[in-house]
Amino acid sequence: MKVIPRDEHTISRKNISDSALKVMSRLRNQGFKAYLVGGAVRDLMLGGHPKDFDVATDATPEEVNGVFRNSRIIGRRFRIVHVRFGREIIEVTTFRGHHDSEDTSTRDKSAHSRQSDKGLLLRDNVFGTLEEDAVRRDLTVNALYYDSGTFEVYDHVHGVADLKRHNICIIGDPAQRYREDPVRMLRVMRFAAKLDFSIEDKTQNAIAGCAPLLAEIPAARLFDEFLKLFMAGYAQRTLELLLEFDLLQYLAPASNKKIRRDAQARRLVQAAMRNTDTRILDGKPVTPAFILAALLWPAVRVKAEQHRGHGEPLQVAINNAGQDVMSEAVQTLSIPKRFSIPMREIWEFQSRLERTKGRRAAELVDHRRFRAAYDFLLLREEAGEDTGELGDFWTDFQTLSLEERLSQAGAGESNQRKRRSRTRRPPASS
Ligand code: ATP
Ligand code: MG
Repeated sequence: MKVIPRDEHTISRKNISDSALKVMSRLRNQGFKAYLVGGAVRDLMLGGHPKDFDVATDATPEEVNGVFRNSRIIGRRFRIVHVRFGREIIEVTTFRGHHDSEDTSTRDKSAHSRQSDKGLLLRDNVFGTLEEDAVRRDLTVNALYYDSGTFEVYDHVHGVADLKRHNICIIGDPAQRYREDPVRMLRVMRFAAKLDFSIEDKTQNAIAGCAPLLAEIPAARLFDEFLKLFMAGYAQRTLELLLEFDLLQYLAPASNKKIRRDAQARRLVQAAMRNTDTRILDGKPVTPAFILAALLWPAVRVKAEQHRGHGEPLQVAINNAGQDVMSEAVQTLSIPKRFSIPMREIWEFQSRLERTKGRRAAELVDHRRFRAAYDFLLLREEAGEDTGELGDFWTDFQTLSLEERLSQAGAGESNQRKRRSRTRRPPASS
């Protein structure tokens, strides 16, 4: 293993969270090994500021739990320990060992590690050494270890060389590593996009053959990964890679074909991703609801046309299409209600925005979903969808006061009164 002394790398303790340093020194004082690992070391070596800090240790989860009062063991597939300091959580992982060791006579490992007949890792709680832990990680650039006591970096898999060459390279045999955990293919896309690195040939070439395994990943895990793919500020580049490697179908099957074939549909999704990246860069809030609305809109349009063909009015057709697309989408991505509800409201608003007359139109501007729906309308226009210059109308209309809007929409005093008297009427008995 290569050991890089402190004067040959640029990691400074100043850029490491005090909580992470505390966790590592406490573990060392108890006679354990403890290193900073994963994305934090990678980002520190690249001169960035890591968003979270993971620690790897030779202490078992129980031992770690015993050292820190403020900790708890979580996970089943991978048992790890969370050590909490206020709002910050330091994730402490015990070194993983080889789960397919030939020497099974000494210890029954099946209770700790399990693979499906296709090679998928179902459980991985066999513990090992730093060297074993390094080769179990996904990418060479994610397998560097920093010792905050000696200031040394441990590099067992040429991670430093790949960082210098801007190379995303999976550790070990790519097909085998993808079979163990197909999500690693998405991680390859994610880090290639985030770091703007190129993907090493073998790491690339094995993807086509292993991609169908992504269909077996639980929808909850895919949704977690979806958030990391698109909500980290590199959505646009990530989308390009997902299209290049034809992996989008495992995240959004309903839209994938349309996005691949239809330039306008693709432009809409690209524009949504670009907007999201820009907003993140500017420190503005972003919501998965908006990205999902854009990503699935091409499918909604296709379905809505089918519903229209059955004679449904536009608004009904869009709402029904939204329902269809939603039910299909949640089979692959388990979208929580707090995102799927606003997503559908954005869709449903698109037909409501077509009505520019009457009291409803005047009041729409004050609806809490107006802003997102209006932004979405502009996005559709940006992508080349013909909305009859609806965007311009709403751009001007929303700057008016409610009174001005009411009168412009032909819903002045007299209309108001008519409406009020109607609503005051007692409901008809059924
Ligand atoms: P981020 O900047 O997104 O936090 P990260 O590299 O820290 O990036 P995490 O998802 O936090 O990514 O994972 C921490 C580390 O755990 C990774 O760097 C990698 O070494 C290892 N790891 C994570 N997921 C896998 C996986 N599916 N297979 C193998 N190793 C993994
Ligand atoms: Mg991390």
